[in-house]
Amino acid sequence: MLPNSRYMHLETKYGFIKMSLEAFAQWMSQKRIGRTVIAIQQHHTYIPSYHHFKGDNHFELQKSMHHHHTVNNGWMDIGQHFTIFPDGVILTGRSLEYNPAGIFGNNQNAICIENFGFFDAGQDEMTKEQKESIVGLTAIFCEKFNLPIHTNSIVYHHWFNFFGERNDGAGGNKTCPGDTFFGGNKVQDCKDNFLPLVAKYLNRQSFTKTDTNITKYAMVTANALNVRTGSHYTNPRAKDREPLHLGAVIRVYKEENNWYKISKSREHWISSRFTTEVKRYVVTATSLNVRSGPSTSFPTVGQIYKGNQVFVNEIDGNWHQLSNENKWVHGNFLRAYNSSDAV
Ligand SMILES: [Zn+2]
Repeated sequence: MLPNSRYMHLETKYGFIKMSLEAFAQWMSQKRIGRTVIAIQQHHTYIPSYHHFKGDNHFELQKSMHHHHTVNNGWMDIGQHFTIFPDGVILTGRSLEYNPAGIFGNNQNAICIENFGFFDAGQDEMTKEQKESIVGLTAIFCEKFNLPIHTNSIVYHHWFNFFGERNDGAGGNKTCPGDTFFGGNKVQDCKDNFLPLVAKYLNRQSFTKTDTNITKYAMVTANALNVRTGSHYTNPRAKDREPLHLGAVIRVYKEENNWYKISKSREHWISSRFTTEVKRYVVTATSLNVRSGPSTSFPTVGQIYKGNQVFVNEIDGNWHQLSNENKWVHGNFLRAYNSSDAV
């Protein structure tokens, strides 16, 4: 008998869910995510590392990371969405409806994966089981969000400096996810060693479809926004949905009475009053300066590379503001996202 997800038993403790890659694939196929994801971050935990792993202490290790992040770092929750352990087991962390605390300045629209271990040369040697789960989980997210298998959408922490600027590892960046991570932590190592495995898992190099049913994108402007089963406050909340949060970019499939339908297949609606429309663009410049305000008199706070996707919520003259952050780019180097961008 095929496993029926309704009765799928998943072990949970301290608010985390523990899954094999197979169970994760099934869980994710049923999971509704309001946030639009355009980047998947790869990290290693560094500490704890393999010698802290006893084979059955996943939950305790996850709890200790949660403690470190919330108590020592003062974060609202554990930083990562998922931790992948040496035996290939996956544990959930932060809700997918929140941005992670993964790469400073680059967490909007991102998913953060912490790969348990210390993968610098001479340290932990990654197991086959862990490799399979890292590849599989990454691939499943590429498919779920129609992300190209590309170093713009699959990123290593090492490629960003301490100020959140992408410099592809030039300078004193962290080594994270480790200088032996799938043969190395450079962009070329990722292209040579990691991306082909992701493509192989999905049995394809690229995606031929985008979700053409999306009519527009909108960003949540409330701290918490409930998802309801119809286009009115009197409709009950959707049972298989978490509330959406400030800054999340959602996909709109239909509009009715100032309500947005945010699921293609289900009657899941939010009030549009607590959102602002955003537009999805692709960067066309080789390297585009990001500034802290809408003119060249504002300082440069980073760069975005060609092919990267961004969400714009405000346009001031020719300057475009990114996702409600203090980040602005010149509109001459952006073009509207279209269906060929997922190919
Ligand atoms: Zn990292």
